[in-house]
Amino acid sequence: MDAEDFKQVRDAVRELVREQVVPREEEIEESDRIPDDLRAQAAAMGLFGYALPEDYGGLGVNMTEDVQLAFEFGYTTPAFRSLFGTNNGIAGQVIAKFGNEAQKKAYLPRLAAGEMIGSFALTEAEAGSDPAGLRTSAVRDGDSWVINGAKRYITNAPLADVFMVFARTDPEERGGRGISSFVVDKSAPGVTVGPHDKKMGQSGAWTSEVYFDDVHVPADALIGEEGRGYSKALTVLSRGRLHIAAMCVGMAQRVLDESVAYAASAKQGGAPIGRFQLVQALIADMHAEWLAGRSMVLAVAERYDSGEDTSIGPSSAKLFCSEMVGRAVDRAVQVHGGMGYLRTTPVERFYRDARLFRLYEGTSEVQRVIIGSGLLREAGMSRG
Ligand SMILES: Cc1cc2nc3c(=O)[nH]c(=O)nc-3n(C[C@H](O)[C@H](O)[C@H](O)COP(=O)(O)OP(=O)(O)OC[C@H]3O[C@@H](n4cnc5c(N)ncnc54)[C@H](O)[C@@H]3O)c2cc1C
Repeated sequence: MDAEDFKQVRDAVRELVREQVVPREEEIEESDRIPDDLRAQAAAMGLFGYALPEDYGGLGVNMTEDVQLAFEFGYTTPAFRSLFGTNNGIAGQVIAKFGNEAQKKAYLPRLAAGEMIGSFALTEAEAGSDPAGLRTSAVRDGDSWVINGAKRYITNAPLADVFMVFARTDPEERGGRGISSFVVDKSAPGVTVGPHDKKMGQSGAWTSEVYFDDVHVPADALIGEEGRGYSKALTVLSRGRLHIAAMCVGMAQRVLDESVAYAASAKQGGAPIGRFQLVQALIADMHAEWLAGRSMVLAVAERYDSGEDTSIGPSSAKLFCSEMVGRAVDRAVQVHGGMGYLRTTPVERFYRDARLFRLYEGTSEVQRVIIGSGLLREAGMSRG
């Protein structure tokens, strides 16, 4: 896609988000689902496959473009992006980056068209921050693999048609070695999806547990090399972290805009509260930190695209921006006073929605571990 085409896509996304999705945020919150007509519009615009390769029906954006779209998606309820986020991101990228030709042909065009939803099934009880400890197993049985285990908090699982499942294929190995990835159709006998989880926020985005009981999948369900699934998971998660950082920037911009508008119009003592310098300070801090986050994400995306840094930079951006948006939503509630605590006020909803960003795709602590250990490894420190 050339620069002019991308600009058109970005402008169309901005228009869709601000004119079609923002006015329906309350409806999405109350009904806990994305309306079918919005899903259809997103599919028609190619949003289910914007980050998937053009050869397979996607728009093929690079990371610098991806984050600019995420700035726009972040401006409204994160549930909207979540609907097509796994197709473009953690699930779709496993096939796009590591699948063979047959797997790409079988899945990518349908994921890109929004005819199919893909989910990424890595996390388990006691294997979240340390997914290398996962217990789901895949055992070779002639021409097939038999998968057993349980995954939790799987985004889009209730809607999914296909799962990227990470399972241990070598019980002798410990840690990341001996884990493989498989593409598993939801219709395979033995796959069960639990009821969708009740969450603090991000209403309309669904997660649930997924169980695999003696699920037989053909040998060609294995993605890439046997025993190399863990590094695939880390690769797609790293990309996802930068995308989430950009979502945080978008949300920070939205709550800043809400706060400025409120401060300019809500009155105390007959004049707008925006005349109080302490209110201005809340807004100023939000703006300075939003700008820092935005600049950081763009710089990290450029280095990601050039191959200079695909790990420490994305983790740093995720850490900073998810913490930054946490402060932004808190200040936004403060600017709104009592109104900020009421359910019908957008900033109250964003206050709850933002909390997830510090938890999923690696907690803030895990990002710090990745950054710190990565820098020390680069400096040549041995494991001791
Ligand atoms: C809404 C939602 C959607 C999700 N979607 C998906 C999905 O689509 N696919 C998927 O596979 N997973 C998904 N997840 C899982 C998510 O990635 C994990 O919840 C997250 O990685 C944290 O793991 P955990 O919940 O097991 O917490 P834990 O790992 O138990 O963490 C608990 C606390 O311990 C800290 N901690 C753990 N290890 C360390 C360490 N080494 N050093 C310092 N502190 C540490 C953590 O930072 C945290 O504060 C989702 C989760 C949620 C809530």
